[in-house]
Amino acid sequence: MTTVVKSLLRFWFILPIFLIIIVVQTGFGFNGADNAAAMPTVSATLRPTFTPTFTPTPTPTRTLPPSPTATPVIEATPTDTVEPTMEPLPTDTVSSPPTIAAQTIEPVTPTIEPSPPELLPLPTATETPIIEPTPIALAPGTSRVPILMYHYLSAPPFGADAIRTDLSVSPDLFDTHLAYLQEAGYESISFQQLAVALSRGEALPPKPVIITFDDGYRDSYENAFPVLQKYGYTATFFIFTQPIDTANVDFLSWDMVREMHQAGMEFGSHSHTHPDLRNRDVEFLLREIVTSKELIEQNIGEKIRAFAYPSGMYDETATRVVKSAGFWAAVTTQWGGHQSYDQRFTMPRVRIRGNDSSAMLAEKLRIVE
Ligand SMILES: [Zn+2]
Repeated sequence: MTTVVKSLLRFWFILPIFLIIIVVQTGFGFNGADNAAAMPTVSATLRPTFTPTFTPTPTPTRTLPPSPTATPVIEATPTDTVEPTMEPLPTDTVSSPPTIAAQTIEPVTPTIEPSPPELLPLPTATETPIIEPTPIALAPGTSRVPILMYHYLSAPPFGADAIRTDLSVSPDLFDTHLAYLQEAGYESISFQQLAVALSRGEALPPKPVIITFDDGYRDSYENAFPVLQKYGYTATFFIFTQPIDTANVDFLSWDMVREMHQAGMEFGSHSHTHPDLRNRDVEFLLREIVTSKELIEQNIGEKIRAFAYPSGMYDETATRVVKSAGFWAAVTTQWGGHQSYDQRFTMPRVRIRGNDSSAMLAEKLRIVE
């Protein structure tokens, strides 16, 4: 017995091995089929639990990354594509217009430039032909330029003598005169225009007229000037300068002269002291004529070209001095309505008397046709 036990104890470790082999051989609930069946059950139970948990998580995670990744790709592509496309376009578009504008302006400028040269030589050229007499005959009838002669443009003062009354035309009567001239189609011109027409054959309006005022009384500014402006007419004011230069209130002031000149009125000389210019020496004549001319020119800032003999009195010496002083024309008080180059220093006028109605004015203009 003891020997058997000892043998068993000696091979005790064989017993567990033997038992394991038996178990494996008999299955004992752990064979391949049972194991396989049991595993799917466990797996099925676990997967549904984990799948919903994991699936949503990876989906948003995977969706988000691609989105930002996709967005920059899309943005970058259109941005890069559009910007280079847009930038060159505006650049070309902007560059082109200036080029076109510059080309459009350049041809216009040379078109404007030739014009002033054409206009500028005219005043310059007008001086020459009168100094160097080269008269061009006007077409028949075009030399008819009536020069109306006014003095006072106000009602004569109470007790005025016949001469003063005869020299005074009221503003209302003057208004009817201008209304008639306008209705009859007369256009007022200046002596400068007339001189150019007589010397160079420049065209005049179809019915030209020159309106003149002698002496430079203050009513020229107060009464004549507003009516002239009302009808859009200009006039030539022959002023003798001593009373103006000594601030005689019965005459124009230099401020009035400048204002009227700036408004388009023409000024001419009527000497300095209004003397009779006949039988005078050259020195006296020069003093009277040049003093007046220079005073007026200093005040209006422009050369004057017309002269009116005081009281219409003149002789050959007076005419020669007027010409040499730089005048282009001189008017008298002789009757007439036609002007010529040869008689440009003895131009006749149409005297307007104090009581002349517009009908009488029309009649006088008809007579001098
Ligand atoms: Zn006078």
